[in-house]
Amino acid sequence: MTAEQTVVVVGAGHVAAALVKAARRRGFAGPLVILGDEPTGPYQRPMLSKERLAGAGESGLWLLDPQWCAANDVTLRTGSPVERVDAATSSVLLADGGSIPADLVVLATGGRPRQLPGVEGDRIHTIRTLADSDRLRERLAPGRRIGVLGAGFLGTEVAAAAVGRGAEVVVFDVAPVILARGVGADIGTAVQALHAGKGVQFRLGQGIESVRATADGVTVTTAAGAETVDDLVVCIGIEPNTEVAVRSGLVVGNGVEVDAECRTSVPTVFAAGDVAAHDHPRYGRLRVEHVDVAQQQAAAIGKTIAGRPTTFADPHWFWTDQYDINIQGLGLGGIRPDDRMVARGDLSALDGTVFWLRGGLLVAAATVERGEDVSVARELIDLEIPVRAEQLADEGVELDELLDSEEVNA
Ligand SMILES: Cc1cc2nc3c(=O)[nH]c(=O)nc-3n(C[C@H](O)[C@H](O)[C@H](O)COP(=O)(O)OP(=O)(O)OC[C@H]3O[C@@H](n4cnc5c(N)ncnc54)[C@H](O)[C@@H]3O)c2cc1C
Repeated sequence: MTAEQTVVVVGAGHVAAALVKAARRRGFAGPLVILGDEPTGPYQRPMLSKERLAGAGESGLWLLDPQWCAANDVTLRTGSPVERVDAATSSVLLADGGSIPADLVVLATGGRPRQLPGVEGDRIHTIRTLADSDRLRERLAPGRRIGVLGAGFLGTEVAAAAVGRGAEVVVFDVAPVILARGVGADIGTAVQALHAGKGVQFRLGQGIESVRATADGVTVTTAAGAETVDDLVVCIGIEPNTEVAVRSGLVVGNGVEVDAECRTSVPTVFAAGDVAAHDHPRYGRLRVEHVDVAQQQAAAIGKTIAGRPTTFADPHWFWTDQYDINIQGLGLGGIRPDDRMVARGDLSALDGTVFWLRGGLLVAAATVERGEDVSVARELIDLEIPVRAEQLADEGVELDELLDSEEVNA
């Protein structure tokens, strides 16, 4: 690969920002071009359901400094939707009919919120963009009743921001416990109690029978009855934006399929982030929707195009902040039903960690307020250090010590 090649990133989000920095810092010298369909450059999407929704301004929002881009020959074109990649002519075709040369392409088109079929209108919200977050924030005010459909990370973050702004909040989910699919029922139960203590109302364990939006409100009906809210925020997951990949003839399943190096079925086209279904050396093929995964995959591609072929093998890490509580998870996509669960600390007091073990090795961890446990878990997983459940559960054992234990060195 010569240094003079042009690299085009399709999609101006987290992958794009991380990729251009990683490539330049590792000595890639060719032109770097980002094509995004949004009106702005890349921004911190996680802030849209946290600080930004709560009312914070722009502090920490932007991911790419225009001066850095100018100094590093990075061209950012906003408002430029891409139609497809033509690998045969080494070009990227724009929706406006234009085309630009591209020796290597990185598809980073992210995803869009899943919608409720046939349910729309001014009172129905999803959150993916800055504009979505800003529109919703205006509705979160004292005297307004806000419904949140979906008690995953996004829905519960929205609930926290909404009660924080003085709104009344009702959360609906078919699952009996919030966040349980993401971090397990123990942490979910504890965080649910935190929300309830802040005034969030829950309607859990009931499937949604219908949602009807009118000019006066939105009525959500479950087996338990009908409730009307002023606005409904639909947080039921995302669909990967695979249209560009499909039009470009790439192999697409649940996302754009990429190998361990994040290369698609066309060797000069990579894909990363929410749109990519990655072939992970440890977990197999997975599409993961976390910022850190997007950034680490981008960094791996950046190293590869700078001449050092790199695979992405990180145990997927994420965080969520709700009120003043920080929750983190690592490797959770790789958990199997028969993995052994071990708790450490006092989860009901929102101060503890859950570990998942398989055959004496750690496979995953989730924590409330103990980010340091996850840092050690990352080392235990990476180095495949044998651990016992009793050691993990025992608060008298410093987790750090497990990294250097005699059992390990034996
Ligand atoms: C509200 C919210 C809160 C979140 N909070 C967390 C969190 O706390 N922790 C965490 O780990 N993750 C969180 N996430 C997930 C995280 O933001 C994503 O994993 C991350 O943004 C993925 O980066 P990406 O570059 O793949 O996609 P994105 O950042 O979505 O960027 C993709 C870009 O491509 C653009 N695009 C799409 N099609 C085209 C086209 N044809 N042409 C040009 N451009 C196109 C899109 O408009 C978008 O700008 C959150 C997501 C949201 C929406």
